[in-house]
Amino acid sequence: MYGKFKDYLKNELKAIDEAGLYKRERIIASPQGAEITLSDGSKALNFCANNYLGLADNPRLAAAAEKAMKERGYGMSSVRFICGTQDLHKQLEKAIAEYFHTDDAILYAACFDANGGVFEPLLGPEDAIISDSLNHASIIDGVRLCKAQRFRYANADMADLEEKLKEASSCRFRIIVTDGVFSMDGNVAPMDKICDLAEKYDAMVMVDESHSAGVVGPSGHGVAEQFNCYGRIDIFTGTLGKAFGGAVGGFTTGRQEIIDMLRQRSRPYLFSNSIPPAIAAAGIETFKILKESDELHNRLTENVNYFRDKMLAAGFDIKPTQSAICAVMLYDAKLSQVFASKMAEEGIFVTGFYYPVVPKGQARIRVQLSAAHKKADLDKAISAFIKVGRTLGVIK
Ligand SMILES: *Cc1c(COP(=O)(O)O)cnc(C)c1O
Repeated sequence: MYGKFKDYLKNELKAIDEAGLYKRERIIASPQGAEITLSDGSKALNFCANNYLGLADNPRLAAAAEKAMKERGYGMSSVRFICGTQDLHKQLEKAIAEYFHTDDAILYAACFDANGGVFEPLLGPEDAIISDSLNHASIIDGVRLCKAQRFRYANADMADLEEKLKEASSCRFRIIVTDGVFSMDGNVAPMDKICDLAEKYDAMVMVDESHSAGVVGPSGHGVAEQFNCYGRIDIFTGTLGKAFGGAVGGFTTGRQEIIDMLRQRSRPYLFSNSIPPAIAAAGIETFKILKESDELHNRLTENVNYFRDKMLAAGFDIKPTQSAICAVMLYDAKLSQVFASKMAEEGIFVTGFYYPVVPKGQARIRVQLSAAHKKADLDKAISAFIKVGRTLGVIK
């Protein structure tokens, strides 16, 4: 039986490769960080990790994980509700709720699971989910698993959102769901306007803070802080895999009864293993570090501003970033790939994105800044951009 299926898969894989869409992985042989060492011994500056606060190789987090592993063992061998909850899990949930100014939080193995398990327990066929067109794949999948009616509005387009809210007006409950920061343009969701519309049309609000928490807002607490929307957002989801240490783990945080219901009915929570003690302990330490000072967030903000200003001055076309994501527009798909590979030759890792990941004719290089980058790292990346940009005729 496998013979025919094997031929089919080989053909499909070939087609992916011929379309230039085959994903190949870089093998890193060092900790994740601003500078990484690859398996062939070469070094590169990394501008494509979600390591926004530079915590991925933080010694305090590693020490907290090590201590917890010694004291509480390696794994939990259980889902939370049978015998998979330690005091560490409860402490981490408390720290997350405190960070987002919410009632309570619930942990998942990943934010993919948090989003996959948030809609189905709460909403039914008589309800409506109104979702931004650029929302993350895990939100799209979560919506698919739920029987609620689906409405989609154009990215951050408040007129379109209002239209969809009117269309959904006869539903029992309505929820608007958006990413906090959209990962391709680096733009933020206009949370204040979204909350205004939610109030006008009697809808709830959910935001996925994966790319925004730790990054945007005066002290980096995300879009609720940036737009002063505390108390107006019902559900937040987020990840421990980006700014918050970069290991693994996700969460939903928000109103008490919502979190209580998720603990009863959310399938990725009920039927999937508890996160390991070491991850929970390092998560607690992460929020402790962020409570002690805004230093990492301040450094990230300085780095973003420095990089953006120098790149604009060099003549590059940059999307008006509002986050730690900086889209250097090239428009041409082929050019974006050649540009990224020439940057790699210069020892700078950035990613070239083109259709279907971004709209046709909108190819770009995505740069992700980190608090871990030093001025010298930024200067080296900017020089490489200028060199490659001139060689390829992107800038004069
Ligand atoms: C990265 C990301 C996720 C997935 O997070 P994991 O914890 O890695 O599963 C979910 N939503 C958004 C918006 C993301 O950017």
